[in-house]
Amino acid sequence: MNLADSSTLASSLITRGYRRVADEKDADLIVLNTCSVREKAESRVFGRLGEIYKYKREKPYMKIAVVRCMAQRLADELIKKVPHVDYVLGTDRLFELPDAIEGIEGTSSVMTAFGHENIDMIEPVKESPYSGFVTISRGCDNFCTYCIVPYVRGKERSHSDDYIVDAVKKMVDEGVVEATLLGQNVNSYKFGDTDFPKLLSRVSKESGIKRLRYMTSHPKDLSKRLVDVMAEDPTIMPHIHLPVQAGSNRVLQKMGRIYTVEHYLKIIEYIKKNLPYVVLTTDIIVGYPTETEEEYEATLKVVSEVQYDSAFMFRYSVRPGTEAAKFIDDVPEEDKIRRLNKLIKMQQKISYDQNQREVNQVRFSLIEGYSKRNPEKMRARTDGNKTVLFEAQGLDEGSIVPVKILAADAFTLHGEIVKPN
Ligand code: SAH
Ligand code: SF4
Repeated sequence: MNLADSSTLASSLITRGYRRVADEKDADLIVLNTCSVREKAESRVFGRLGEIYKYKREKPYMKIAVVRCMAQRLADELIKKVPHVDYVLGTDRLFELPDAIEGIEGTSSVMTAFGHENIDMIEPVKESPYSGFVTISRGCDNFCTYCIVPYVRGKERSHSDDYIVDAVKKMVDEGVVEATLLGQNVNSYKFGDTDFPKLLSRVSKESGIKRLRYMTSHPKDLSKRLVDVMAEDPTIMPHIHLPVQAGSNRVLQKMGRIYTVEHYLKIIEYIKKNLPYVVLTTDIIVGYPTETEEEYEATLKVVSEVQYDSAFMFRYSVRPGTEAAKFIDDVPEEDKIRRLNKLIKMQQKISYDQNQREVNQVRFSLIEGYSKRNPEKMRARTDGNKTVLFEAQGLDEGSIVPVKILAADAFTLHGEIVKPN
């Protein structure tokens, strides 16, 4: 989402006469688009602000802007902490940055009020000439107890289905072949009579897009109908990111996740039964306040049962202002680290095994360019969202080719292009 927002902001600045520079030291304006989801994300931003101060010391006319979640969370406090920051623009205000710089009436250097987002300004964004993101809903109403997102991103609001279909259509006209629909909880998308499965079908049928993806799904809202729609429509790519967070019902309840482990596993069963090939990924938090060793083991059990293709794994990080910040953060740091490391190791082995399933299969893959480490090889993304490398030169980026998988490690597939007979 931040990638999408950064590109949108960049294009709105470019339309106003700004120019992108290749090196930050040459910039007259530096914008940090921030995340507040974990403490580490925020401390990195403070680190970056420290680093870029050296440019401003040399050219005091240079402007520094901090936008989105950290700006929303800290507002004036951010400028008090880091006085060389010029603009602090929160969630609904970042697209007003060019106005604020020009000092247009009604703007100021710190803006965080919600309800000011102008959807007309939000052009869909191309991640590359052949793939793009479209934000279908903003904000979140779930208030999982550990999570800062509902506080910094505001109430959930869905964009109209017509706007979304048009946005994807427009990208297709510009050469995009793969679109990803984005939302904190895409499954609760609702605009008039259109829910998420209906939206997905509409975009697939009416936009002319070749490959369609989405994220993120919340287990409490992922419906069987969505899986059925995916099963019927080869345009929708066979990848589901379904964050489980924890494997014990007590911890899930304390997290405010609403579903039980049994419910989660039932959805997984339905997905596996109805989608003959599907890549499953997840998010997990270890060391939640009061999580016992047994409860942590229950998380490992779910991971082993589901056999995810990959996972984003985190240790719990206190976010001031959330419900969980009121709980005692009683799992010692060294236990959190140990639990996380063991989980990561276990998941790596599972990822390796899952990738072996791909060997000898042919996967239609979207060419993204060359391998970063080995320029003899080209890099593509499979339908299941895995990276595959194969020997080739000069193939068009953005074309979709059949690749036979020959070998795999935990992170990457290796294959060869299937030549037409
Ligand atoms: N809307 C998505 C997730 C958004 S945040 C969902 O509900 O699945 C991305 C991930 O960051 C979460 O899934 C969670 O695993 C992790 N996360 C969020 N808050 C966290 C915290 N306080 N400490 C550690 N991890 C956290
Ligand atoms: Fe955060 Fe929960 Fe909303 Fe995801 S669903 S953004 S974890 S509050």
